[in-house]
Amino acid sequence: MAEAVADLPLKPGLATVLVGDDPASHTYVRGKRRDAAEVGIVSFHNELPAETSQADLELLIDDLNADPEVHGILVQLPLPGGLDSAAITERIHPSKDVDGLHPHNLGLLVLGRRGLRPCTPSGIVRILDQYGIPTAGRRAVIVGRSFLVGRPMALMLSEHGADATVSIAHSRTTDLADLTRQADIIVAAVGVPKLIGREHVKPGATVIDVGINRTDEGLVGDADFDELIDIAGAITPVPGGVGPMTRAMLLVNTLEAARTASGS
Ligand code: NAP
Repeated sequence: MAEAVADLPLKPGLATVLVGDDPASHTYVRGKRRDAAEVGIVSFHNELPAETSQADLELLIDDLNADPEVHGILVQLPLPGGLDSAAITERIHPSKDVDGLHPHNLGLLVLGRRGLRPCTPSGIVRILDQYGIPTAGRRAVIVGRSFLVGRPMALMLSEHGADATVSIAHSRTTDLADLTRQADIIVAAVGVPKLIGREHVKPGATVIDVGINRTDEGLVGDADFDELIDIAGAITPVPGGVGPMTRAMLLVNTLEAARTASGS
């Protein structure tokens, strides 16, 4: 990645926007800025008080949209109550939307066209690819239907090239275990600690655990890693699996945005 950054005719720039004092958000943004620095991406950090108005935040986004040194804009979510995060996401110019959550970029994903894609599902596609886990003709069950993870994940695994047969489960799904037991690949993006246990997994299946749940035991995923380690063919740990890949894909998207801006 550092070589690809160095090869560009310009210095890629990532603007981070952090509103309020949520400790987890501060930790995430610090990590993202550190990652950027490690590969030679310049970060422009913007920290605003929790009482910032929607209008002021939108003005900042407008400034960043117009700034030629900024190629990617990351607004750390969730925003404090009272701020409309959908409107802020839509305010970011699609060419700088390195989170891949602007309706324009999500639309390109639906159409199967090139564009900036959401970081978490993109990272999962890379994990499957890197570990040689086949998707073509395989059954994938995505548990969770958020626009951040579940829905784009389903689109990416079912598009031409990945060619999986995909089902999406959610809180109204009846007999989740019956469905997930048919899966070759389970992606758990739910936010319920250790929801996916032995009864949910066919022997040899791949389990991708997106969940990040803060519990008395520390950070745990949506899958019960200890229960599944000897039944799953492959399983991602929490922490350390999907999270770091999500961060990496933010850098990939920033690089891609800078490349497009430079015309290279
Ligand atoms: P979200 O917006 O809260 O969506 C959760 C989804 O899970 C919803 O679709 C919900 O169904 C479904 N659900 C809830 N309980 C369920 C149950 N018992 N059985 C089946 N489905 C159930 O969450 P999200 O933003 O997608 O995030 C999910 C988890 O991933 C969270 O722990 C989050 O912290 C983590 N996360 C991690 C990363 C990373 O980089 N590792 C990135 C993003 C998110 P309904 O739609 O019916 O409510």
